[in-house]
Amino acid sequence: MAGFSDRIGILAYALTPLSVLLSSRESILSLLTGISYQHFNFLHRWTGRIIFVQSFLHTLVWTIIEGKLYQPQPSVFQTFIAEPYIIWGCFAMLFITFLYVFSLRRVIRWTGYEFFKKSHYVVASLYIGACWGHWDKLYFWMLASLIVVLLDLGLRILGIGLNHIGYTKSGYLGFTPATAILTTFGTSPSPALRIDFTHPSPSWRPGQHYYLCFPALSIWQSHPFTTASLPPTSTGSAPHHTYIIRALSGETAKLAALARDAGGEGVTTPVILTGPYGAAVTPGTENLLAVAGGTGISFALPVVLAALNECGGSRAGLVQLVWVVRRVRDLKWVEGEMGVLRERAREGGVDVRVFVTREGGPEEVEKDVVVVSGDKEVEDGKIEGVVGTDTTILEKPEEDSVNISIIAANSSGFSITYLGGAHPDLGAVVRDYIERCPASGGRIEVMGSGPAGIGSALRSVVAECNDGRKVGRGEEKADVGLYWDDRLL
Ligand SMILES: Cc1cc2nc3c(=O)[nH]c(=O)nc-3n(C[C@H](O)[C@H](O)[C@H](O)COP(=O)(O)OP(=O)(O)OC[C@H]3O[C@@H](n4cnc5c(N)ncnc54)[C@H](O)[C@@H]3O)c2cc1C
Repeated sequence: MAGFSDRIGILAYALTPLSVLLSSRESILSLLTGISYQHFNFLHRWTGRIIFVQSFLHTLVWTIIEGKLYQPQPSVFQTFIAEPYIIWGCFAMLFITFLYVFSLRRVIRWTGYEFFKKSHYVVASLYIGACWGHWDKLYFWMLASLIVVLLDLGLRILGIGLNHIGYTKSGYLGFTPATAILTTFGTSPSPALRIDFTHPSPSWRPGQHYYLCFPALSIWQSHPFTTASLPPTSTGSAPHHTYIIRALSGETAKLAALARDAGGEGVTTPVILTGPYGAAVTPGTENLLAVAGGTGISFALPVVLAALNECGGSRAGLVQLVWVVRRVRDLKWVEGEMGVLRERAREGGVDVRVFVTREGGPEEVEKDVVVVSGDKEVEDGKIEGVVGTDTTILEKPEEDSVNISIIAANSSGFSITYLGGAHPDLGAVVRDYIERCPASGGRIEVMGSGPAGIGSALRSVVAECNDGRKVGRGEEKADVGLYWDDRLL
């Protein structure tokens, strides 16, 4: 029994550096394999669970041996539990239990993501220290784990330095954050934000993301956001970054409040960025269907634009962008880019289909209104929905609604469908695309980003549309691939 318990404990030690390696953002494994660090996170969670079970069994078996099997009791157990290496062992077990319990999705939802992230770093480091104290003859596994932790941290600091240290405007070497312009869309509690800045940074590929830190809010938080713009094609020009962000309840809500408090459009704030991260996404075929839901457009847009740029005017396949938005005015998030796509659609280079889920037709398109109740903004939306004596409705200038009617117009290759409270049938959308795309374009790649429901719908329909027998007969259109941009960590 003691031999079994010791061996299982040694295995838990040996798995620790691997588990740490699988969790690092500056991932050596990503460098070697080209696979994004996010995908290794799945394995990190499983190795962590295995370490927890092994540690638990090791503790249980030794407790039975020392507390029950060895005699006389309770003196044997009392001497055993007072040994310093056993006290370290108890702490290690406590820490690994904390790591396991506080990593459960339900608990993360309850404690908040930031608490999870910060406590995970601290307690994992304490766990490594406690393991070293418990059995120092196996110190090398813990040393290896610490080296990986420090390497990850060091490379991240180096990355920030490379992105931001250089000659400042005054001519001295210094740290210069990027100056980002914030644009807020809508006045709901969770508005969309657009962030734009030009800053020298390593080039990125479509679908990759940066971690953005907003020092005006906190220097202790950075969040991942997908770059919606394309990297510059010519060397020498500073890259322009665009991000489309949905304000939730943490740092992004504070960012929306910062923009709102500073007066809306054209607000600037410093940004510190690290990255780029994530695997470069390339369709690998000329038949590309990109599906985006809401802010998922930050993934789909650069993928589509890059595919169009790659082939120029002559294209054997069909590129189609499907964007599901709540309201037609959401098109303003990427108004300029949509203008470019509209032009390309007119020339026949791309097909754009927009589905508006919360409006029934152009006549229902809401004016962009700010509703003020007393001193407080309550909600954007329908004028009829607001009652109360102290309520004032401040309509945005007339030109705004003219603007919306321009971006909401149907044109050749660019269609807007109003669903009035329903979701689009993505099965029908994908099947229609497969029907229409030319066989000369080769196999089909579907790429999507957005709410999890869109991901599930795409998985089902893509699985249905694949047919090995047809592919065997040379019908490449029956070979349908799917890449889902998973934003849940
Ligand atoms: C690779 C990747 C790319 C992303 N790209 C975009 C994008 O282009 N546009 C966009 O609007 N959103 C994007 N997200 C999601 C975005 O990172 C979160 O919405 C944001 O971090 C929420 O911050 P918050 O403090 O307001 O969250 P909270 O309101 O506190 O929490 C809401 C949820 O956001 C997630 N979250 C919070 N902090 C983080 C974090 N540091 N890392 C990962 N997830 C977190 C958690 O699941 C949490 O449950 C992306 C996420 C990932 C992983």
